[in-house]
Amino acid sequence: MHAFTEKDIRASFVNTSLRERNAIVLPDLAEIGWENLDYLGWRDPKQPLAGFIVVPVDDLPVGILLRQTEHRVRSRAQCAWCEDVTLPNDVVFFSARRAGQAGRNGDTVGTLLCERFECSANVRRPMPPAYLGFDVEAARQRRIEALRAHAEGFGRDIRDSR
Ligand SMILES: [Zn+2]
Repeated sequence: MHAFTEKDIRASFVNTSLRERNAIVLPDLAEIGWENLDYLGWRDPKQPLAGFIVVPVDDLPVGILLRQTEHRVRSRAQCAWCEDVTLPNDVVFFSARRAGQAGRNGDTVGTLLCERFECSANVRRPMPPAYLGFDVEAARQRRIEALRAHAEGFGRDIRDSR
């Protein structure tokens, strides 16, 4: 994804109240390796159950506030976005309020995601060839594209709800 500014990111949140939006603590954007990210995600130690993601939808940022459910999911859960079966990290269940009136009415969407949003790193990890002649680079590219499609689809779903 390409880089977004702090102003773009803060303004991009579609499912927050004004108070929630103003309280968002952004990561240090200068430290972000945008070219190796399919979406931006971060946690805030002061709000341990909150998660923050910014997904590109038609190259525009869509910020989404997530809420981690308190209970842990079973240990071998699979992230719905990177679909990695050999995850080096935990996967947790997040729910997101939909934008607008639907969200104010309590309508949410849930998804299993890597706890600290490691998906972009996971799909870029080298994987062992599945068979002789297996095209590792093509498989990696497919995984990246699938992750982008999942992130964009989720962003659209949250943003465009009525
Ligand atoms: Zn993931």
